Amino acid sequence: MSAPPSSWKGGPLPPGSTIGILGGGQLGRMLAQAASKLGFDAVVLERDADSPAGRVAVRCLVGAYDDPAALAALAEASAIVTYEFENVPAATVDHLIGLGAEVAPGPRALAVAQDRVEEKTFLNAHGAPTVAFAAAATSDEAVDAATRIGTPCLMKTRREGYDGKGQRWVEHPADAAAAFTALGGVPVIVEAACDFTRELSVIAARGRDGATAVYPLAENHHEHGVLRRSIAPARVTPALADQAERIAARILSGLDYVGVIGVELFELADGRLLVNEIAPRVHNSGHWTQDGCEVDQFEQHIRAVAGWPLGPTRAIAQVEMLNLLGEEADAWLKYAAEPETRIHLYGKREAKPGRKMGHINRVKPL
Ligand code: AMP
Repeated sequence: MSAPPSSWKGGPLPPGSTIGILGGGQLGRMLAQAASKLGFDAVVLERDADSPAGRVAVRCLVGAYDDPAALAALAEASAIVTYEFENVPAATVDHLIGLGAEVAPGPRALAVAQDRVEEKTFLNAHGAPTVAFAAAATSDEAVDAATRIGTPCLMKTRREGYDGKGQRWVEHPADAAAAFTALGGVPVIVEAACDFTRELSVIAARGRDGATAVYPLAENHHEHGVLRRSIAPARVTPALADQAERIAARILSGLDYVGVIGVELFELADGRLLVNEIAPRVHNSGHWTQDGCEVDQFEQHIRAVAGWPLGPTRAIAQVEMLNLLGEEADAWLKYAAEPETRIHLYGKREAKPGRKMGHINRVKPL
């Protein structure tokens, strides 16, 4: 056990208290469900009056993240505020803290996760290795960065990229200027191409007492930058699991973190792990824990932010998690007829192509 986070203010939050959630999507929904299971009330702040999380929370405050009245109502209602989304503006969290709200995970985790250069700089400084990278803010700097990093390389916007959006491969330094323009002329990171053998992720948690808990690794498969499928627990050697656990522990203590974090990893042919990115929240590649672990990532996050003891993370089943994108969720009746399939639907009204509508966990005995 490491030292308690500096935000530690006292004892565990009793059931009956209210937990505020910034964001009304599926992660907010499953957090609200977990909060409710532990006897808490969840209040959601979301711009859309009819959101997946808003419909299961006891109350939905409809407003933007920069709406002072909505933030005041959230701070007033909530013993603790958490979030489902790492691009919550720093000003929103500062405003909530200024109103006396307790926000977990804290602003440092958000600041690090919102900027890919800050993130990789933080990771390398804390013994969590990444690919080589360079920052660029102009077209000339982008060409220079691609020359230094070597091609092919991957150019990504420093901020606000997700699910593979805001990224361009650069095959030759001379193409870097065009890629920079195509990404909108905003500050970018240029990353060395990683020749990984697998994409893995580790979900971990840190409590208010400094205790940490790490889930077994998941092996992840993406399509068009979006997670399609996770297999967990992934088949890994004990040495690889140890390496992932050490990386997660360094990140959690380096961020003085409270809550669940998702750490996306590249496995290299020589057995080393590099961190691709971190998500200071519950993570899509951790959905398998709902049906595969003793305590799932959503309950774990609520336990952590509420100052409760963390729950056990041991796997109790082998799981294949499949995201249901767009109209795939229409096959709910087929999935309902499969005895090994556990269905999680998000209650979204409209099945746009590629939209995450739900997921299924196919479970097998370990
Ligand atoms: P990201 O938005 O950073 O998670 O990237 C989305 C996907 O792009 C990752 O899951 C990888 O499949 C791929 N990717 C990201 N960064 C790199 C890299 N430096 N080298 C090779 N592939 C990458």
